[in-house]
Amino acid sequence: MKNKRPIKVAFPHMGNVYIAWASALKKLGVEPFIPPYSSKKTLELGTKYSPDSICLPYKLILGNFMQALEKDVDYVAMISSPGICRLGEYGQSIRNILKDLGYESKYIELQLYDGFKGMYKFLTELSGIKNPIILIKAINIAVRKIFVLDRIENLFSYYRAREITFGTAEKNYNRALALILDAENIKELKKSEKEAVSLIKSTPIDKNREVVNVDITGEIFLVQDPFSNQNIEKELGKMGVQTRRSLTVSSFLKDAIIPKCFKKGETHLERAFRMAKPYLMRDIGGDALESVSDVAYANERGVDGIIHISPFTCMPEIMSQNIFPSMREDCEIPILTLIMDEQSGRAGYITRLEAFVDLMKRKKFYKNKLKNPKTVA
Ligand code: SF4
Repeated sequence: MKNKRPIKVAFPHMGNVYIAWASALKKLGVEPFIPPYSSKKTLELGTKYSPDSICLPYKLILGNFMQALEKDVDYVAMISSPGICRLGEYGQSIRNILKDLGYESKYIELQLYDGFKGMYKFLTELSGIKNPIILIKAINIAVRKIFVLDRIENLFSYYRAREITFGTAEKNYNRALALILDAENIKELKKSEKEAVSLIKSTPIDKNREVVNVDITGEIFLVQDPFSNQNIEKELGKMGVQTRRSLTVSSFLKDAIIPKCFKKGETHLERAFRMAKPYLMRDIGGDALESVSDVAYANERGVDGIIHISPFTCMPEIMSQNIFPSMREDCEIPILTLIMDEQSGRAGYITRLEAFVDLMKRKKFYKNKLKNPKTVA
């Protein structure tokens, strides 16, 4: 009898999340198909067939799926949520477009806010596997990889802002990612994380370099995805800025997927409700609540600045950007807001980043001078 080939499943890109997805699927005997990394071509394809004024993540996801479907995948897997913004509509709409374009693969959706149960159901439907031990192992490796990826991302940012030769930290980071991708079980993952950390730490740096620290918040897809945010962290790294993503997939998992009994301390969403309260009383969809609270949180920690990135026409983030001016009465932190779409030009974008970095550096200099007049020239 002929061996049945494994089902081939494609999922859209969002930063490095593909590494975790791929591991969960492999554990279940499903072949993950990683679409070509998002590019100008992906965006052109997605934009061409997307509804007018839809947000940038939608266009990129559609483009990713179209490129994947050219390679004969059996399923395209999409994340959905019933929230207040358009994400709840994405699934059906993308499904219709793909059908109208004549693509034949099946479509499957992971309902984000069904938490652990939703993930379990999604993987069962996809793989046909009902054995809870195998399914839990698949979820476990994916979730743990997400946490590892976020940890090494932060370490990478520290080294990139201080590296002596530009590009060394990134080379080491890419090798570190390959190690995390290859780890097949928890034991291997622990070993890979140690090796990844030593690789990144082997980057020669100038420990005494004066760097500025910036938090990055906004719509989660744009915060995570270097193509859609025009590689903001790399650009800032070149300017001697250490970045920290306020919105991470691991913090999202803590809120949406991980059962309460396994959580320690305040989660991002709990903090968001607490810290956004003086300015925003309820969840208005997307990541607006988190964005508003992230500004207050960065201000409280004395971070040098915060950058808010959002897709053009994203309603929740338009709301949060309109709240920032009233926050300036209580928060002295500089805020830069950036709105992205397929028309966003590069030159103006870099100029805005440079001006913002300059402002933060001056502010930091005068702050230090006030604190310590003798040591700052
Ligand atoms: S949060 Fe904004 S960008 Fe994200 S799906 Fe909703 S409307 Fe689109």
